[in-house]
Amino acid sequence: MADITRDVLIIGAGAAGTTAANELRKAGLSVVVLEARDRVGGRLWTDVVDGAMLELGGQWVSPDQSALIETIDELGLDTFSRYREGDSVYVGPDGTLHRFTGEMFPVSEATEKVIAEITERLDAMVAEVDPDRPYAHAKAAEWDTITWDAWLRQQTDDDEAIRNLAFATGSAMLTKPTHAFSLLQSLLMAASAGSYSHLVDADFILDKRVVGGLQQVPQLLAERLGEDVLLNQPVRSLQWGPSTSSGTDGITATTDSLTVSARYAILAHAPILYDRISFVPSLPRRQHQMHQHISMGFVIKVHAVYDGPFWREQGLSGTAFSPYELVHEAYDNTNHGDERGTLVGFVSDQNADDVFELSAEERKERILESLSHYYGPEAKNPVVYYESDWGTEEWTRGAYAASFDMGGLHRYGKDLRTPVGPLHFACSDIAGAGYQHVDGAIRMGRLAAAQILDARRA
Ligand code: FAD
Repeated sequence: MADITRDVLIIGAGAAGTTAANELRKAGLSVVVLEARDRVGGRLWTDVVDGAMLELGGQWVSPDQSALIETIDELGLDTFSRYREGDSVYVGPDGTLHRFTGEMFPVSEATEKVIAEITERLDAMVAEVDPDRPYAHAKAAEWDTITWDAWLRQQTDDDEAIRNLAFATGSAMLTKPTHAFSLLQSLLMAASAGSYSHLVDADFILDKRVVGGLQQVPQLLAERLGEDVLLNQPVRSLQWGPSTSSGTDGITATTDSLTVSARYAILAHAPILYDRISFVPSLPRRQHQMHQHISMGFVIKVHAVYDGPFWREQGLSGTAFSPYELVHEAYDNTNHGDERGTLVGFVSDQNADDVFELSAEERKERILESLSHYYGPEAKNPVVYYESDWGTEEWTRGAYAASFDMGGLHRYGKDLRTPVGPLHFACSDIAGAGYQHVDGAIRMGRLAAAQILDARRA
């Protein structure tokens, strides 16, 4: 006998799950959201660490992210712009620090020309890729069977150009080594943001933050659902199809302490976590195969808080890049109205693996040393220091998101969002526009809700 019976069970109280639940509620369906963690928000998490408010997961909003912007407006949240007055900095291959303004890194004229030419080529290719159907492009198979790194190396032998072009979708976005994913995957990442040029434009992609933190989006959405959001309820098993114990062709799910009966379920979490649930009967062959070709990227988000934003006094915006540095990108991440100054930096893929081989003290020292290459020795002495390590989070297992490994996107992409009987899927990691971002999570939450409403009408 089920403890709870609803029209729809939603698994996961991140941005996707809370959006889907609200959409279904608005359409008159009853819902329950089961969340494994003791908090709402998933990869959105604002916490106070040693007295500093930090956004440990997702935080930035870009102007093309219309689904997220609509939601932020509808929830009555305020945004503020990332600090960007002054010079950006770039560390070149010989370790020399260069100040610059604009989007182009201060490289030699010849390298600049190569970067500009390949960027133009990429923008033209990206324009042909539908982010919702990248697998449908005539060259999908060709582009999905060459690595991003190999394709770039076919275009030029200018190593500095390659590294600077590679890192926009590599370390900075998919957070996997550039030999581990395909050109098509890279084009999808760029298409989801409108163009490759958008993706490399920090002023575009990292435009605004929400005052008080982006986690408020799922939190406020969950508040509207009231007691229909249940925390500490990891779904362990899910019976679906005609054999459910309720005798209907819906689903029966169990957690450690609850049984939920529903007509439909939405799995609103990263695809790499589907196999944490025991499905009865098991999922179809296609899903079993497809899910094995999806994996999480890995990046450490590092916060360093100082008594003041000392870099601004040097005329620096805080924006820093280098494909040669351990911290490959860093920004001014000072909170709205805060007197203290905060820097945020990122250590990605194999660099992240390497520093986790070190002790916590050595790791901190290496990371702060890298920040000091951008901002000077003052960067070595923050009053608060924090590394977000999503790799150890059981209900996420990496950062920022999941993507197909080589060849998976053209082979399986079309079935990522295909419902299986009463089971529907929603997550930023299966989105087109807004892919791997909160905007995509909201879009997928809306889509899964719409699919269920359509199925009911059919
Ligand atoms: P999630 O947020 O992962 O939510 C899924 C939920 O499901 C989780 O709460 C999980 O606990 C729960 N769950 C999983 N399995 C079960 C189960 N079996 N039973 C019950 N519950 C379960 N995006 C941006 O737009 N801008 C950024 O600046 C940005 N920066 C990022 C920085 C970091 C460090 C990280 C980690 C992510 C960042 N992202 C950013 C990505 C963004 O946070 C995610 O794309 C988005 O939050 C994903 O939302 P979701 O609802 O799809 O999944």
